[in-house]
Amino acid sequence: MPVNPKKHEMPTQAPEVRARNFQEVALGYTKEVAVEEAKRCLNCKNKPCVEGCPVNIDIPAFIARMKEEDFEGAYQIITKTSSLPAVCGRVCPQETQCECKCTLGIRFEPVGIGRLERFAADWHNAHAEEAAKRPASNGHRVAIVGSGPSGLTCAGDLAKKGYEVTVFEALHTAGGVLVYGIPEFRLPKAIVSKEVDTLKSLGVSVETNIVVGKTITVDELFEMGYEAVFIGSGAGLPGFMGIPGESLKGVYSANEFLTRSNLMKAYREHPDTPIMKGGKVAVVGGGNVAMDAARTALRLGAEEVSIVYRRSMEELPARKEEVEHAQEEGIRFLLLNNPVEILGYQNPEDPRDPKNGFVKSMRCIKMELGEPDEKGRRRPIPIPGSEFEMEVDTVIMSIGTSPNPLIKNTTDGLEVNRRGGIIVNEDGLTSREAVYAGGDAVTGAATVISAMGAGKTAAKAIDAYLSGK
Ligand SMILES: Cc1cc2nc3c(=O)[nH]c(=O)nc-3n(C[C@H](O)[C@H](O)[C@H](O)COP(=O)(O)OP(=O)(O)OC[C@H]3O[C@@H](n4cnc5c(N)ncnc54)[C@H](O)[C@@H]3O)c2cc1C
Repeated sequence: MPVNPKKHEMPTQAPEVRARNFQEVALGYTKEVAVEEAKRCLNCKNKPCVEGCPVNIDIPAFIARMKEEDFEGAYQIITKTSSLPAVCGRVCPQETQCECKCTLGIRFEPVGIGRLERFAADWHNAHAEEAAKRPASNGHRVAIVGSGPSGLTCAGDLAKKGYEVTVFEALHTAGGVLVYGIPEFRLPKAIVSKEVDTLKSLGVSVETNIVVGKTITVDELFEMGYEAVFIGSGAGLPGFMGIPGESLKGVYSANEFLTRSNLMKAYREHPDTPIMKGGKVAVVGGGNVAMDAARTALRLGAEEVSIVYRRSMEELPARKEEVEHAQEEGIRFLLLNNPVEILGYQNPEDPRDPKNGFVKSMRCIKMELGEPDEKGRRRPIPIPGSEFEMEVDTVIMSIGTSPNPLIKNTTDGLEVNRRGGIIVNEDGLTSREAVYAGGDAVTGAATVISAMGAGKTAAKAIDAYLSGK
């Protein structure tokens, strides 16, 4: 039978409906469509897709099970190497990983590997009756700092080998960026908490509201009897542009804005946390985080949301699918523009005017593209005399994040690079004995799957270190 040249479409909520609710945008394949999509896989000899996956899931093997409608079997193959399949099936940039290596993709659209992974994981979550079993303890204790994908993966892999693992998390909910950053409409919180529950049933203990470096130090963890520590504390320190007006009320970092909305439920009618709702919003930046912030602002009731990005659409770093979804929902893209100042409302007649000190507008300058920089992206150059003022009520800065220096500052001998990333060897070992690290805390802001890959590498090395002890 000739192969269908196109991936089966992912059904989604209609743009005009979803732009005003927080429910998941992509609705997932039906069983029939999942099987049809699985049948597009050529089961080729070289399996380049496996190489394209940072945790090397045996993709052709799980897809072969799906062709036979053995969805639980498919799930079991995926979870041999991935501990968060329902998450990865939703948020991994497959177009630059497994799917971009797919042999079918040379002539046609590649197999929808991510969509199939999502289906298998959702099937398991809807049908599995037994919780994962806790293996017998091997008597060794390991502490994990941070409950993002790197920490959870490291914890899961060690727990499966019988280690007694405790995850220490600064926030009140486990999941890292998966719960505080990525919005509900892309990754429902229930999915993350289900994955965390699976780890708990393997014996992983999760201690929330513990800030390592403040509540307790890495050295104190060793004194408590932990024999190895994995640091997966992410890169949650937001960057700002350093332009006048960034301390005005109504200017947020994307991290703060998304944390208030996601984790502190600011979308409720009477939230405990203040957040902008309504008005005109400008989101500065062009990455995935900027798309999430813009689409969240829209759902919170903004009348107009604009992405302000200094390069053109071609250089915009966000995933294509996210950009298309944002455009369909009515987000404006002000490309080749850069803010130079944020202006605040001042009423000299009445110093108690409640609007005083709030954002009123943003001054921007138009840009053009010059020669490529060291990364090969064309450099944005301001066009003299092209400044203009745009009326805004809220500005969300989404220009990148870096690792928080707290743990480095409270751990003797822990070396970091000039961007604040913890320095590790190929096994994830830091400059301190028995202290490992991985994920964004090492690389700076990256992806869920690369953080998971780092958690796996470190778990393997911790196992080798402690079992040889
Ligand atoms: C809004 C947003 C959207 C994104 N979208 C995508 C996407 O679609 N696809 C994708 O692949 N990637 C995406 N990413 C990137 C991805 O989420 C990260 O690369 C990934 O989560 C990094 O995992 P991690 O485990 O290293 O750290 P994190 O997920 O950042 O987790 C670190 C955890 O450590 C905790 N912590 C920090 N310091 C301490 C301390 N001192 N003590 C105790 N706990 C501490 C933090 O509270 C946090 O829970 C997105 C990122 C953001 C911000």
